[in-house]
Amino acid sequence: MAFLEISHLEKSFGSNRVVKDFNLDVEKGEFISLLGPSGCGKTTVLRMVAGFEHPSTGVIRIGGADVVGKRPNQRNIGMVFQAYALFPNLTVAQNVGFGLKIKGMAKAAIDARVAEMLALIGLPDLGARYPFQLSGGQQQRVALARALAPKPQVLLLDEPLSALDAKVRVSLRTEIRAIQRDLGITTIFVTHDQEEALSISDRIVVMNGGIADQVGSPFEIYNRPTTRFVANFVGQINAFEAEVDVASEGRVRMAGVPVQLAGPVSGSRVTLATRPEALHLGRTAGKDVVLPATVTEVHFLGSVIRLRADVAGVSVALDTFNRADQPPPAIGAPVELSLSSRDLIVLGA
Ligand code: ADP
Ligand code: MG
Repeated sequence: MAFLEISHLEKSFGSNRVVKDFNLDVEKGEFISLLGPSGCGKTTVLRMVAGFEHPSTGVIRIGGADVVGKRPNQRNIGMVFQAYALFPNLTVAQNVGFGLKIKGMAKAAIDARVAEMLALIGLPDLGARYPFQLSGGQQQRVALARALAPKPQVLLLDEPLSALDAKVRVSLRTEIRAIQRDLGITTIFVTHDQEEALSISDRIVVMNGGIADQVGSPFEIYNRPTTRFVANFVGQINAFEAEVDVASEGRVRMAGVPVQLAGPVSGSRVTLATRPEALHLGRTAGKDVVLPATVTEVHFLGSVIRLRADVAGVSVALDTFNRADQPPPAIGAPVELSLSSRDLIVLGA
Protein backbone atom coordinates (compact mmCIF):
# COMPACT_ATOMS: atom_id res chain seq x y z
CA MET A 1 0.00 0.00 0.00
CA ALA A 2 1.41 3.37 -1.03
CA PHE A 3 1.78 6.13 1.56
CA LEU A 4 -0.37 8.58 -0.42
CA GLU A 5 -3.07 7.05 -2.59
CA ILE A 6 -5.22 9.05 -4.98
CA SER A 7 -7.94 6.99 -6.68
CA HIS A 8 -10.45 8.01 -9.33
CA LEU A 9 -10.23 11.64 -8.28
CA GLU A 10 -12.55 13.99 -10.17
CA LYS A 11 -13.34 17.68 -9.86
CA SER A 12 -15.88 19.74 -11.76
CA PHE A 13 -16.58 23.43 -11.41
CA GLY A 14 -20.13 23.67 -12.76
CA SER A 15 -20.06 21.81 -16.06
CA ASN A 16 -16.28 22.22 -16.37
CA ARG A 17 -14.56 18.90 -15.57
CA VAL A 18 -11.07 20.05 -14.66
CA VAL A 19 -9.73 16.82 -13.09
CA LYS A 20 -10.72 13.51 -14.72
CA ASP A 21 -10.17 10.06 -13.20
CA PHE A 22 -6.83 11.02 -11.67
CA ASN A 23 -4.95 8.11 -10.08
CA LEU A 24 -1.59 8.23 -8.34
CA ASP A 25 0.24 6.17 -5.73
CA VAL A 26 3.10 7.97 -4.01
CA GLU A 27 5.60 6.02 -1.89
CA LYS A 28 6.87 7.37 1.43
CA GLY A 29 9.75 9.78 0.82
CA GLU A 30 9.09 10.03 -2.91
CA PHE A 31 9.39 13.31 -4.82
CA ILE A 32 6.64 13.52 -7.46
CA SER A 33 6.13 16.34 -9.94
CA LEU A 34 2.84 17.23 -11.58
CA LEU A 35 3.90 18.68 -14.92
CA GLY A 36 1.58 20.21 -17.49
CA PRO A 37 0.53 23.41 -19.22
CA SER A 38 -1.33 26.18 -17.44
CA GLY A 39 -4.96 25.26 -16.77
CA CYS A 40 -4.52 21.46 -16.92
CA GLY A 41 -5.64 20.97 -13.30
CA LYS A 42 -2.35 20.72 -11.35
CA THR A 43 -3.28 23.21 -8.64
CA THR A 44 -6.76 21.70 -8.32
CA VAL A 45 -5.27 18.24 -7.62
CA LEU A 46 -2.92 19.75 -5.03
CA ARG A 47 -5.71 21.72 -3.36
CA MET A 48 -7.81 18.55 -3.08
CA VAL A 49 -4.91 16.74 -1.40
CA ALA A 50 -4.47 19.71 0.97
CA GLY A 51 -8.19 19.91 1.70
CA PHE A 52 -8.83 23.38 0.28
CA GLU A 53 -11.03 21.91 -2.44
CA HIS A 54 -13.56 19.08 -2.07
CA PRO A 55 -13.41 16.37 -4.76
CA SER A 56 -16.52 15.73 -6.86
CA THR A 57 -15.70 12.03 -6.48
CA GLY A 58 -12.68 9.93 -5.57
CA VAL A 59 -10.58 8.83 -2.63
CA ILE A 60 -7.42 10.32 -1.11
CA ARG A 61 -5.64 8.20 1.51
CA ILE A 62 -2.62 9.24 3.54
CA GLY A 63 -0.95 6.48 5.55
CA GLY A 64 -4.00 4.31 4.88
CA ALA A 65 -6.54 6.83 6.26
CA ASP A 66 -9.17 8.45 4.04
CA VAL A 67 -8.71 12.23 4.39
CA VAL A 68 -11.44 13.51 2.05
CA GLY A 69 -13.77 14.46 4.90
CA LYS A 70 -11.00 16.14 6.91
CA ARG A 71 -10.28 19.85 7.08
CA PRO A 72 -6.85 21.13 5.91
CA ASN A 73 -5.53 21.57 9.46
CA GLN A 74 -6.48 17.97 10.32
CA ARG A 75 -4.42 16.51 7.46
CA ASN A 76 -0.91 17.33 8.69
CA ILE A 77 0.20 18.70 5.34
CA GLY A 78 2.69 21.49 4.59
CA MET A 79 2.15 23.72 1.58
CA VAL A 80 4.20 26.32 -0.28
CA PHE A 81 2.63 28.55 -2.94
CA GLN A 82 3.98 30.38 -5.96
CA ALA A 83 3.39 33.89 -4.69
CA TYR A 84 5.20 34.77 -1.51
CA ALA A 85 2.49 34.03 0.99
CA LEU A 86 4.40 35.01 4.12
CA PHE A 87 2.57 37.11 6.71
CA PRO A 88 4.00 40.59 6.00
CA ASN A 89 3.51 41.89 9.55
CA LEU A 90 5.33 38.95 11.20
CA THR A 91 9.08 38.45 11.41
CA VAL A 92 10.77 35.52 9.71
CA ALA A 93 10.92 33.65 13.04
CA GLN A 94 7.24 34.36 13.75
CA ASN A 95 6.32 33.19 10.25
CA VAL A 96 8.23 29.93 10.67
CA GLY A 97 6.79 29.38 14.15
CA PHE A 98 3.22 30.24 13.14
CA GLY A 99 1.94 26.68 12.71
CA LEU A 100 3.57 25.60 15.96
CA LYS A 101 1.94 28.43 17.92
CA ILE A 102 -1.47 27.49 16.49
CA LYS A 103 -0.84 23.95 17.72
CA GLY A 104 -0.20 25.32 21.20
CA MET A 105 3.46 24.40 21.42
CA ALA A 106 5.42 25.97 24.31
CA LYS A 107 7.52 29.04 23.49
CA ALA A 108 10.91 27.43 24.24
CA ALA A 109 10.07 24.48 22.01
CA ILE A 110 8.90 26.83 19.23
CA ASP A 111 12.14 28.84 19.47
CA ALA A 112 14.22 25.68 19.22
CA ARG A 113 12.29 24.35 16.25
CA VAL A 114 12.41 27.74 14.47
CA ALA A 115 16.20 27.91 14.95
CA GLU A 116 16.50 24.38 13.58
CA MET A 117 14.37 25.29 10.54
CA LEU A 118 16.27 28.52 9.82
CA ALA A 119 19.54 26.57 9.93
CA LEU A 120 18.04 23.97 7.59
CA ILE A 121 17.22 26.64 4.96
CA GLY A 122 20.59 28.34 5.39
CA LEU A 123 19.24 31.57 6.96
CA PRO A 124 20.19 31.13 10.63
CA ASP A 125 20.64 34.85 11.30
CA LEU A 126 17.56 36.31 9.62
CA GLY A 127 14.89 35.43 12.19
CA ALA A 128 14.31 39.05 13.21
CA ARG A 129 13.82 40.37 9.67
CA TYR A 130 10.48 41.09 8.03
CA PRO A 131 9.52 39.53 4.69
CA PHE A 132 9.94 42.81 2.77
CA GLN A 133 13.61 42.83 3.83
CA LEU A 134 14.26 39.52 2.05
CA SER A 135 14.93 38.60 -1.58
CA GLY A 136 12.38 36.48 -3.43
CA GLY A 137 14.53 33.38 -3.03
CA GLN A 138 14.92 33.97 0.70
CA GLN A 139 11.16 34.47 1.09
CA GLN A 140 10.48 31.14 -0.59
CA ARG A 141 12.99 29.42 1.68
CA VAL A 142 11.19 30.90 4.68
CA ALA A 143 7.88 29.68 3.22
CA LEU A 144 9.44 26.22 2.97
CA ALA A 145 10.67 26.40 6.58
CA ARG A 146 7.20 27.49 7.71
CA ALA A 147 5.61 24.54 5.87
CA LEU A 148 8.12 22.04 7.32
CA ALA A 149 8.21 23.32 10.91
CA PRO A 150 5.16 21.33 12.15
CA LYS A 151 6.69 18.11 10.71
CA PRO A 152 3.99 17.47 8.11
CA GLN A 153 3.62 13.98 6.68
CA VAL A 154 3.25 15.34 3.13
CA LEU A 155 4.77 18.46 1.53
CA LEU A 156 2.91 20.16 -1.33
CA LEU A 157 4.71 22.76 -3.45
CA ASP A 158 2.70 24.74 -6.03
CA GLU A 159 5.12 26.29 -8.53
CA PRO A 160 7.27 27.61 -5.68
CA LEU A 161 10.05 28.71 -8.02
CA SER A 162 8.21 30.28 -10.94
CA ALA A 163 8.30 33.86 -9.64
CA LEU A 164 12.09 33.79 -9.17
CA ASP A 165 14.73 34.66 -11.73
CA ALA A 166 16.48 31.88 -13.59
CA LYS A 167 19.66 31.56 -11.54
CA VAL A 168 17.92 31.54 -8.16
CA ARG A 169 15.35 29.12 -9.55
CA VAL A 170 18.00 26.56 -10.42
CA SER A 171 19.96 26.86 -7.16
CA LEU A 172 16.83 26.79 -4.99
CA ARG A 173 15.44 23.72 -6.73
CA THR A 174 18.65 21.86 -5.93
CA GLU A 175 18.38 23.01 -2.34
CA ILE A 176 14.71 22.01 -2.02
CA ARG A 177 15.53 18.56 -3.34
CA ALA A 178 18.46 18.19 -0.91
CA ILE A 179 16.29 19.19 2.07
CA GLN A 180 13.50 16.87 0.89
CA ARG A 181 15.92 13.92 0.65
CA ASP A 182 17.42 14.77 4.00
CA LEU A 183 14.05 14.76 5.76
CA GLY A 184 12.69 11.92 3.64
CA ILE A 185 9.42 13.80 3.31
CA THR A 186 6.82 12.66 0.77
CA THR A 187 6.47 15.55 -1.68
CA ILE A 188 4.28 16.64 -4.59
CA PHE A 189 5.74 19.49 -6.60
CA VAL A 190 3.72 21.32 -9.26
CA THR A 191 5.44 22.92 -12.22
CA HIS A 192 4.82 23.82 -15.86
CA ASP A 193 8.58 23.81 -16.50
CA GLN A 194 9.72 20.51 -18.04
CA GLU A 195 13.39 21.00 -17.29
CA GLU A 196 12.57 21.64 -13.64
CA ALA A 197 10.45 18.48 -13.45
CA LEU A 198 13.09 16.36 -15.21
CA SER A 199 15.88 17.55 -12.94
CA ILE A 200 14.18 17.32 -9.55
CA SER A 201 11.77 14.36 -9.55
CA ASP A 202 11.76 10.68 -8.68
CA ARG A 203 8.70 10.40 -10.91
CA ILE A 204 6.75 12.82 -13.07
CA VAL A 205 3.00 12.87 -13.75
CA VAL A 206 2.45 14.60 -17.09
CA MET A 207 -1.02 16.15 -17.06
CA ASN A 208 -3.09 17.25 -20.00
CA GLY A 209 -6.67 18.52 -19.79
CA GLY A 210 -7.27 17.16 -16.28
CA ILE A 211 -5.91 13.71 -17.12
CA ALA A 212 -2.67 12.06 -16.04
CA ASP A 213 -1.29 11.24 -19.50
CA GLN A 214 1.80 9.37 -18.33
CA VAL A 215 3.50 8.62 -15.03
CA GLY A 216 7.16 7.62 -14.99
CA SER A 217 10.72 8.44 -14.04
CA PRO A 218 12.26 11.44 -15.83
CA PHE A 219 14.31 8.96 -17.90
CA GLU A 220 11.19 7.03 -18.97
CA ILE A 221 9.12 10.13 -19.67
CA TYR A 222 11.82 11.65 -21.86
CA ASN A 223 13.01 8.53 -23.66
CA ARG A 224 9.78 6.53 -23.84
CA PRO A 225 6.86 8.97 -24.05
CA THR A 226 3.66 7.02 -24.66
CA THR A 227 1.53 9.81 -26.09
CA ARG A 228 2.07 12.51 -28.66
CA PHE A 229 1.28 15.14 -26.04
CA VAL A 230 3.98 13.90 -23.65
CA ALA A 231 6.53 13.61 -26.46
CA ASN A 232 5.86 17.19 -27.50
CA PHE A 233 5.51 18.76 -24.06
CA VAL A 234 8.64 17.21 -22.53
CA GLY A 235 11.66 18.04 -24.65
CA GLN A 236 11.77 18.51 -28.38
CA ILE A 237 10.87 15.87 -30.95
CA ASN A 238 11.23 15.30 -34.66
CA ALA A 239 8.13 13.54 -35.93
CA PHE A 240 8.02 11.51 -39.14
CA GLU A 241 4.87 10.08 -40.66
CA ALA A 242 5.97 6.60 -41.69
CA GLU A 243 4.23 4.16 -44.04
CA VAL A 244 3.74 0.66 -42.73
CA ASP A 245 4.90 -2.09 -45.11
CA VAL A 246 4.41 -5.20 -42.93
CA ALA A 247 2.64 -4.31 -39.67
CA SER A 248 3.11 -7.69 -37.97
CA GLU A 249 6.87 -7.56 -38.53
CA GLY A 250 7.33 -3.87 -37.74
CA ARG A 251 8.61 -3.06 -41.23
CA VAL A 252 7.99 0.58 -42.14
CA ARG A 253 9.33 3.32 -44.41
CA MET A 254 10.40 6.62 -42.93
CA ALA A 255 11.12 9.46 -45.38
CA GLY A 256 11.18 6.71 -48.01
CA VAL A 257 13.91 4.73 -46.20
CA PRO A 258 13.11 1.17 -45.01
CA VAL A 259 13.22 0.80 -41.22
CA GLN A 260 12.93 -2.34 -39.11
CA LEU A 261 11.21 -1.57 -35.79
CA ALA A 262 11.70 -3.68 -32.66
CA GLY A 263 8.10 -4.91 -32.58
CA PRO A 264 4.86 -5.04 -34.56
CA VAL A 265 2.75 -1.94 -35.22
CA SER A 266 -0.88 -1.52 -36.19
CA GLY A 267 -2.50 0.44 -38.99
CA SER A 268 -1.10 1.62 -42.29
CA ARG A 269 0.73 4.66 -40.93
CA VAL A 270 2.60 5.40 -37.70
CA THR A 271 4.35 8.45 -36.31
CA LEU A 272 8.00 7.86 -35.51
CA ALA A 273 9.77 10.41 -33.37
CA THR A 274 13.38 11.07 -32.44
CA ARG A 275 15.02 13.35 -29.95
CA PRO A 276 17.47 15.90 -31.41
CA GLU A 277 20.43 14.16 -29.78
CA ALA A 278 19.47 10.77 -31.28
CA LEU A 279 20.16 12.04 -34.82
CA HIS A 280 23.81 11.97 -35.85
CA LEU A 281 25.49 13.93 -38.56
CA GLY A 282 27.01 11.56 -41.10
CA ARG A 283 27.13 7.77 -41.04
CA THR A 284 27.97 6.43 -37.62
CA ALA A 285 28.87 2.90 -36.55
CA GLY A 286 25.85 1.13 -35.08
CA LYS A 287 23.30 3.53 -36.56
CA ASP A 288 21.20 1.39 -38.87
CA VAL A 289 19.02 4.12 -40.48
CA VAL A 290 20.57 6.69 -42.81
CA LEU A 291 18.47 9.61 -44.05
CA PRO A 292 19.58 12.00 -46.83
CA ALA A 293 19.05 15.63 -45.74
CA THR A 294 19.85 19.25 -46.50
CA VAL A 295 21.09 21.60 -43.77
CA THR A 296 18.77 24.60 -43.30
CA GLU A 297 20.00 26.23 -40.06
CA VAL A 298 23.23 26.16 -38.08
CA HIS A 299 23.38 27.49 -34.51
CA PHE A 300 26.84 27.26 -33.04
CA LEU A 301 26.25 27.39 -29.27
CA GLY A 302 29.75 26.50 -28.09
CA SER A 303 29.80 23.00 -26.69
CA VAL A 304 26.69 22.06 -28.66
CA ILE A 305 25.85 22.75 -32.29
CA ARG A 306 22.12 22.78 -32.97
CA LEU A 307 21.28 22.15 -36.60
CA ARG A 308 18.06 22.05 -38.55
CA ALA A 309 17.83 19.99 -41.69
CA ASP A 310 15.21 19.09 -44.25
CA VAL A 311 14.54 15.36 -44.59
CA ALA A 312 12.16 14.71 -47.53
CA GLY A 313 10.11 17.78 -46.62
CA VAL A 314 10.26 17.26 -42.81
CA SER A 315 12.21 19.86 -40.85
CA VAL A 316 14.21 18.17 -38.10
CA ALA A 317 16.41 19.43 -35.28
CA LEU A 318 19.61 17.70 -34.30
CA ASP A 319 22.19 18.43 -31.66
CA THR A 320 25.80 17.52 -32.09
CA PHE A 321 28.75 18.18 -29.81
CA ASN A 322 31.38 20.62 -30.96
CA ARG A 323 34.63 19.09 -32.20
CA ALA A 324 37.60 21.40 -32.67
CA ASP A 325 38.81 19.30 -35.62
CA GLN A 326 35.48 19.40 -37.50
CA PRO A 327 33.77 22.68 -38.50
CA PRO A 328 29.95 22.57 -38.65
CA PRO A 329 28.36 22.03 -42.10
CA ALA A 330 27.27 25.01 -44.16
CA ILE A 331 23.65 25.97 -44.78
CA GLY A 332 22.46 24.26 -47.95
CA ALA A 333 24.98 21.42 -47.65
CA PRO A 334 23.71 17.93 -48.50
CA VAL A 335 24.34 15.63 -45.54
CA GLU A 336 23.39 12.21 -44.24
CA LEU A 337 21.76 11.82 -40.84
CA SER A 338 22.01 8.50 -39.08
CA LEU A 339 20.09 7.07 -36.20
CA SER A 340 19.49 3.80 -34.43
CA SER A 341 16.05 2.31 -35.07
CA ARG A 342 15.98 1.31 -31.39
CA ASP A 343 15.93 4.99 -30.46
CA LEU A 344 12.77 5.67 -32.47
CA ILE A 345 9.70 6.48 -30.42
CA VAL A 346 6.59 4.90 -31.96
CA LEU A 347 3.61 7.19 -31.33
CA GLY A 348 0.86 5.49 -33.33
CA ALA A 349 -1.00 7.09 -36.21
P1 ADP B 1 -3.16 24.64 -13.31
O1 ADP B 1 -2.72 24.72 -11.89
O2 ADP B 1 -2.70 23.39 -14.01
O3 ADP B 1 -2.77 25.86 -14.10
P2 ADP B 1 -5.84 24.81 -12.22
O4 ADP B 1 -6.00 23.58 -11.41
O5 ADP B 1 -5.55 26.07 -11.49
O6 ADP B 1 -4.76 24.56 -13.36
O7 ADP B 1 -7.17 25.06 -13.07
C1 ADP B 1 -7.74 24.06 -13.89
C2 ADP B 1 -9.02 24.60 -14.48
O8 ADP B 1 -9.97 24.75 -13.43
C3 ADP B 1 -8.89 25.96 -15.15
O9 ADP B 1 -9.68 25.94 -16.29
C4 ADP B 1 -9.42 26.89 -14.11
O10 ADP B 1 -9.97 28.04 -14.71
C5 ADP B 1 -10.49 26.06 -13.40
N1 ADP B 1 -10.68 26.44 -12.00
C6 ADP B 1 -9.76 26.33 -11.02
N2 ADP B 1 -10.28 26.74 -9.82
C7 ADP B 1 -11.56 27.11 -10.07
C8 ADP B 1 -12.64 27.62 -9.26
N3 ADP B 1 -12.48 27.81 -7.95
N4 ADP B 1 -13.81 27.88 -9.86
C9 ADP B 1 -13.98 27.66 -11.18
N5 ADP B 1 -13.02 27.20 -12.01
C10 ADP B 1 -11.83 26.93 -11.48
MG1 MG C 1 -1.62 26.19 -10.93
